[in-house]
Amino acid sequence: MINRLCIIGVGLIGGSLSRALRQAGVVKTVIGCSRNQQHLQRALELGVIDEYTTTVSEAVRGADMIVISVPLGAMADIFAQIDSNIDADAVITDVGSAKASVVDAVNAHLLKSKHQFVPGHPIAGTEQNGVDASFAELFQGRRVILTPLEENSPAAIERVKSMWQSTGAEVQNMSLEHHDEVLAATSHLPHVLAFGLVDTLANLSDSDEIFQYAAGGFRDFSRIASSDPVMWRDICIENKDAILEIMDQYLADMELLREAMVDGNAAKLERVFRRAKQARDNYIKRQTNNKEQDN
Ligand code: NAP
Repeated sequence: MINRLCIIGVGLIGGSLSRALRQAGVVKTVIGCSRNQQHLQRALELGVIDEYTTTVSEAVRGADMIVISVPLGAMADIFAQIDSNIDADAVITDVGSAKASVVDAVNAHLLKSKHQFVPGHPIAGTEQNGVDASFAELFQGRRVILTPLEENSPAAIERVKSMWQSTGAEVQNMSLEHHDEVLAATSHLPHVLAFGLVDTLANLSDSDEIFQYAAGGFRDFSRIASSDPVMWRDICIENKDAILEIMDQYLADMELLREAMVDGNAAKLERVFRRAKQARDNYIKRQTNNKEQDN
């Protein structure tokens, strides 16, 4: 049971977490905090939080669970403001999409409370943002990755794990390096590609006509280009090395595809497309099997 939950950043992820924990009946009081009072008032009206403040250092006082759910670039500043006000028996976690940069910020700013901070990342989201987009079922059946620090006590890790399990998520531990590589490949690069392609098309002189004729394939591929630009700006900066590594590999493979097209190498094109189709079909099959096993 969480007595007083403090959520800094009551948007899609922070708001959904609060809703899920309330629905599960495992939290008594939720205090929300962010920069904009109107956003917090809206969260109060929606019943996502019980009270709010825009003063970060005040928000954490008396909380036994603190969740930082702001864009990656805002984390360090928040850590600097809360360190001295965190209760000795509180546990802190975050939901940031890249972990090495969060831990760098923890090392720099959570001087007193570092051992209380258990880094986390729910692998769940939508292309929407803000508290109005939040919903209690967001984490059901989804994975949450924890990348615990050496300084964490087993009890602190267990409290964060149990919080996420209450939302219906499955919790796994991973090293932060592995987390950042895996997420760069499966989430960060696909977002960069979607933003990049939509931007290229939007800059064409006949872009209006092009978008008019775009069909289901374009809609599927481009959905994630509707995601929040600030959040994705921060992810690209904070997980730069891992994203660049997989991006370079992708660009090299694209160059080979381009060459195959220039050369009219139909066999090569078909070989690559068959291999990719097989890989995606297997991925969908595995997902379907996992869902059936869960039910
Ligand atoms: P969001 O809906 O835009 O929410 C972000 C929240 O942070 C807003 O409530 C915003 O409120 C607040 N905020 C922004 N800057 C702040 C600052 N400097 N100080 C205090 N509050 C601040 O974004 P989100 O999708 O929930 O993402 C939040 C975090 O979750 C990010 O770190 C992201 O990497 C991670 N994440 C996102 C997804 C996803 O698919 N969306 C999935 C997994 C993890 P104000 O405007 O009122 O300040």
